Amino acid sequence: MHTPSTADGMAAFAPLFAEPAGSPIRELFPYLSRPGMISLAGGYPSPSLFDAEGLAAAATQALGQGPALLQYGATEGLPALREALAGQCQARGMAAAASDILVTTGSQQAFDLLVRVLVAPGDTVLVEVPAYPATLQALRLAQAHIVQVPMDAEGLQTEALAQLLAELPTAQRPKLLYTVPNFSNPRGTLLSATRRSALVELAQRYGFWVVEDDPYGELRFDAAGGDAAPPPATVYATAQQAGSAARNPVLYLASLSKTVAPALRVGWMLGDAAVLRRCTIAKQTVDLCTAPLTQAMAACYLHSGRYPATVERARHTYQQRMQALVQGLQQHLPGHIRCSPPTGGMFVWAQIDHGIDPQRLFDAAVAAQVLYVPGQAFFPHAPDRHTMRLSFAAPDVPQIEQAVQRLSHAVAQARD
Ligand code: PMP
Repeated sequence: MHTPSTADGMAAFAPLFAEPAGSPIRELFPYLSRPGMISLAGGYPSPSLFDAEGLAAAATQALGQGPALLQYGATEGLPALREALAGQCQARGMAAAASDILVTTGSQQAFDLLVRVLVAPGDTVLVEVPAYPATLQALRLAQAHIVQVPMDAEGLQTEALAQLLAELPTAQRPKLLYTVPNFSNPRGTLLSATRRSALVELAQRYGFWVVEDDPYGELRFDAAGGDAAPPPATVYATAQQAGSAARNPVLYLASLSKTVAPALRVGWMLGDAAVLRRCTIAKQTVDLCTAPLTQAMAACYLHSGRYPATVERARHTYQQRMQALVQGLQQHLPGHIRCSPPTGGMFVWAQIDHGIDPQRLFDAAVAAQVLYVPGQAFFPHAPDRHTMRLSFAAPDVPQIEQAVQRLSHAVAQARD
């Protein structure tokens, strides 16, 4: 039997880290460095969209604020940034004050903090599936009992959720539900307004928290013909608008990673004061505070007035890239790799024809120098292996066209 210990008689690792599996996406990194590889794998924003000039100006301005910025800051975040982030939330239709915001080191940390303060081993947590792998990993490490909620083209299926909740024994009542309502990672779906209301109603009825993870909400594409329906209100705002006396059950997470730059590591949480307070205490032992320097840069950047144009550029560029990818797949691989166009975000979720072996396809794709994420990474249990996530954010249109050619080649190989 394998003993979970370090070499040479040193003390054993904690059981959860005895045989840890790393992030399935990060484990694709070695392939990325192969010369000539085109990656549709990572959820990386396009470097060409980083506003390097604006961020350099923000850095200079931040450093000009004097030595206080070189000191530790409050765990809750820099006041100027909390103010600016509350403004971002208000612009998206949510009532928010600076004191309702906890700045986090990326929204990744916000979820980790929530799991620490809400989930004890064995607690039931509902997750829309397919789901962001780092969320699944955080829940596994917390030894949560993960229960999956299915999705369709309109996102999380609230009808299925209602049924599931009705059938769950009281002892298994969920602590929280995790969802990415806007342009989900990986499925790219947008949750309908009706379902947002249904979700809030269920959360209030059964008393669980809804973690609304929203890093992609601003990356909404224009509708064909230009008359886009207004985006549905966030689930957080939906709960506020419902106006009931009950506590708002939604904990809203957002990030500057996909719109400004992931290197800032600036994310935030908006929500219930008692939850925020406990997350702040948890954060004290994790990193004391998010780096004040990048927080100040982020605050200066948001104040500079450059943010709206930066987001606009990203929306436009990603829409063109998405169209190149979806049209390419529909034209060159109809029936073999099936997908529909997302209305925002960074991802296309595709079904692989059952006549194709997914592992052979992945190996052939790597050999043809194109990378994607095999779909199994996004399932907590019983993975659907005939799925894949393709990101159109980082490569440009000619690279995407080339990637589709390479995928066609890989499909031909995998079918032989
Ligand atoms: N949530 C989702 C759904 C994501 O896709 C990502 C990034 N891939 C994150 C959270 C983490 O983002 P960050 O920590 O950079 O804010």
